[in-house]
Amino acid sequence: MNTAIIGYPRIGDLRELKFASEKYFRGEIDAEELERTAGQIRLYNLQLQASSGIDLIPSNDFSYYDGVLDTAFLLDAVPDRYKQLGLPELDTYFAAARGYQGGSGDVKALAMKKWYNTNYHYMVPEIDDSTVLKLKGTKPFDLFAEALEAGIKTRPVIIGAYTFLKLARYKGSKTAADHADEAAAAYSQLLDKFDELGAEWVQLDEPSLVKDMTAEDIQLFVSLYEKILAGSRKVKVLAQTYFGDVRDCYAELCKLPFDGIGLDLVEGKLSRELVCRNGFPKDKVLFAGVVNGKNIWRNNYAKTLEILNELKTKADDIVISTSCSLLHVPCTLANESKLSDEVKQHFAYAAEKLGELNDLKKLTETDIPENTEEYKHNAKLHSGVRSGANPAVREKIAALTDSDLVRLPAFAEREKIQKERFALPLFPTTTIGSFPQTADVKAARKAFRTGELSAADYESFVEKKIAECVALQEEIGLDVLVHGEYERNDMVEYFGECLDGYIFTEKAWVQSYGTRCVKPPVIWGDISRAKPMTVRWSAYAQSLTDKPMKGMLTGPVTILNWSFPREDISLKESAFQIAQAIREEVLDLEAAGISIIQVDEAALREKLPLRRSDWREDYLDWAIPAFRYVHSGVRPETQIHTHMCYSEFADIIKDIDDMDADVITFEASRSDLTILEVLKANDFRTEVGPGVYDIHSPRVPSEDEIAAAIEKMKAYIPAEKLWVNPDCGLKTRGTEETVPSLKNLVGAARKARAELS
Ligand code: GLN
Ligand code: ZN
Repeated sequence: MNTAIIGYPRIGDLRELKFASEKYFRGEIDAEELERTAGQIRLYNLQLQASSGIDLIPSNDFSYYDGVLDTAFLLDAVPDRYKQLGLPELDTYFAAARGYQGGSGDVKALAMKKWYNTNYHYMVPEIDDSTVLKLKGTKPFDLFAEALEAGIKTRPVIIGAYTFLKLARYKGSKTAADHADEAAAAYSQLLDKFDELGAEWVQLDEPSLVKDMTAEDIQLFVSLYEKILAGSRKVKVLAQTYFGDVRDCYAELCKLPFDGIGLDLVEGKLSRELVCRNGFPKDKVLFAGVVNGKNIWRNNYAKTLEILNELKTKADDIVISTSCSLLHVPCTLANESKLSDEVKQHFAYAAEKLGELNDLKKLTETDIPENTEEYKHNAKLHSGVRSGANPAVREKIAALTDSDLVRLPAFAEREKIQKERFALPLFPTTTIGSFPQTADVKAARKAFRTGELSAADYESFVEKKIAECVALQEEIGLDVLVHGEYERNDMVEYFGECLDGYIFTEKAWVQSYGTRCVKPPVIWGDISRAKPMTVRWSAYAQSLTDKPMKGMLTGPVTILNWSFPREDISLKESAFQIAQAIREEVLDLEAAGISIIQVDEAALREKLPLRRSDWREDYLDWAIPAFRYVHSGVRPETQIHTHMCYSEFADIIKDIDDMDADVITFEASRSDLTILEVLKANDFRTEVGPGVYDIHSPRVPSEDEIAAAIEKMKAYIPAEKLWVNPDCGLKTRGTEETVPSLKNLVGAARKARAELS
């Protein structure tokens, strides 16, 4: 059996790409220097895979920002507004990724969306009736040639035609099917070109095949590939799927003339059954995704060998592969200097997963794998209990009853009590929590971590920042203030560090979008709260102002979803353990005089199972109750806010209302207005703050632009339920753009009030 991976992280072991890109954005380096850094990362990744013994190495898994955006440029699906800026190609690309405001014009970025059920985000391609898809770009060919020059014949990776057409947003009257012929022609040409260049394999990523497919979807998929794969070429084509199983189109996948099919045997509940029940075509290679591309635990060789052995009875040619791209795990354990060996032996990041693939290959070639050192060591890791359980936590959770999960009195009564208590103006203004994490904040945190700054000095630095932030918000005229989250590096990692049961890493960065990386903490054992985590900062901030100060917490589902979860207990069990800890914090904040508490569930939507039939049982049935448990103990006059980073919850709108928060803020500025219609149609009860501008871009929205957004929202949301806020936290922004943006936001809210009175 050969080995392969679907893709490797492109940020660099030490986030070199992020730092170089940001320098480029600031004008500190030129395109050539950025390209040099990118080239070094690619070469390093290629050589690492080669020296780790990977047989089929991918290329074009690299991207300056996002692979879907790359594909849009490859196929010339680039809206005119970016082309018309007249910028060099790389800058046009970044304009579409990040928006552009400067000498050449003023355009917003493309919409950004969660990549399936991960915390990665892709840029949504925009296709209008005048778009003609055609093979335009050369990046996959250039990177193939570059790798060949380095002595490695790679397998180029491109987002497949079906997935690309499904992910695009159609601005005109044409639909995906109307662009199918163009797409098919472009992909055929792409394969021809690789044929010419002498590639052995091309990998077309088709994760959309693991979602629920309608008859029309299947038809689109089949007709695309009948055309793309027509004719004779030497180059072999791999249909690579991930994030689930392909139950709706397995038969079609087998029938089409692909040379290889890649299946996810980790997340794909039915993948193994599909192969074993239906068999696997003799003329195709099965790329078996058995090494988890989404989690950091060591592979269990015994279990994996069992799967591979069973597959072997059905498929003649198997390549041992990962369940998805390794983009979703950190690069290497080599830079984790602070983790103990005892802990590290349980972990495998991307580089170590290469070693696992190599081990597995060796084990499949050995008569009695059980006798090998690799096997024995691995079996030992998985045999013992990794860490002690916390029986007190487990008992508390086991004793919960339904009434523990319900806040009283009911929403309407609370709303009345709270309106009276806070006496806020119409369209109250607020922010989502964090303020710009400026260089001084990062420097102080770093100095504190390395011991250069004492705890006392660090704390007084944070207090100084809080005081400045409160004063700034009062000057801007916001109604509900925040403390700015200066004590936090990250909304999940911070809590991970405060909670018992968590392990935090030093360099385990994973790309979230563009140059933004996150460092998910690891749930190692049972979770509990040793001491208050945020109370001192919120109480200090409240002491500086008469306006309400929002306490700021991250909710249990998001903490869980943005951590590397355990694989030895259920997600539900972990969620309730975290909920118990956050609930204790909520009650402590309330006792400390904090009257409004926001519990962010930024990531609640992203782990909604991809298939509708799994939504309730596998997820919502425990996720929503876990959130309710966090706040069910507060007094009626305490206002609970929540925040979500997207507004794609039309299908679960009742569940969102069922979280029973008093106010919810969410992203609405980059997407269309459908969510407003859905809120209206469902008589959404919770008060809402749909973001009035996009914080993912450095662009400053004008007062008129925001006023227009409020005006639109008023048509769907009763004025007394509408809040005005940016669409997410401001930590990634600079002060330069934040202050004018917020001033415009407050100005627009005042205008809206004046109009009503
Ligand atoms: N309160 C967090 C912040 O403002 C929320 C961030 C998020 O939703 N991703 O940073
Ligand atoms: Zn957000």
